[in-house]
Amino acid sequence: MAEDLTEAQEQELKADLDRLVVELTQLTEQGSDRTDVVDLDQPIGRLSRMDAMQQQKMAQAQMRRHKLRLQQVKQALSAYDEGEFGECRKCEEPVGYRRLKARPESPFCVECQGEIESRR
Ligand SMILES: [Zn+2]
Repeated sequence: MAEDLTEAQEQELKADLDRLVVELTQLTEQGSDRTDVVDLDQPIGRLSRMDAMQQQKMAQAQMRRHKLRLQQVKQALSAYDEGEFGECRKCEEPVGYRRLKARPESPFCVECQGEIESRR
């Protein structure tokens, strides 16, 4: 069972969240121009066009992940404002410092996250 956060840990994680918002906002803004760049040093044949399309698809998928993560980070920040940061949104148990340090936007504890993923 995870422990409640100390005040120092909570502030540290809040700083991590603030940093993530800035980083992810930059990434999602830059990326919108970068997703349709084709490398002109390569001869444009069938294969390289497929490569370019593949790269574009990957860039778009990564963009979606960044946007999703940005949403979760913002949700975690509003939970922080309501004094609910670090609580699992399902069972209300502490999510735990180690898990939050790895992903400060985690909305669920390990048990609930596992349960949600196994249902997909
Ligand atoms: Zn839980």
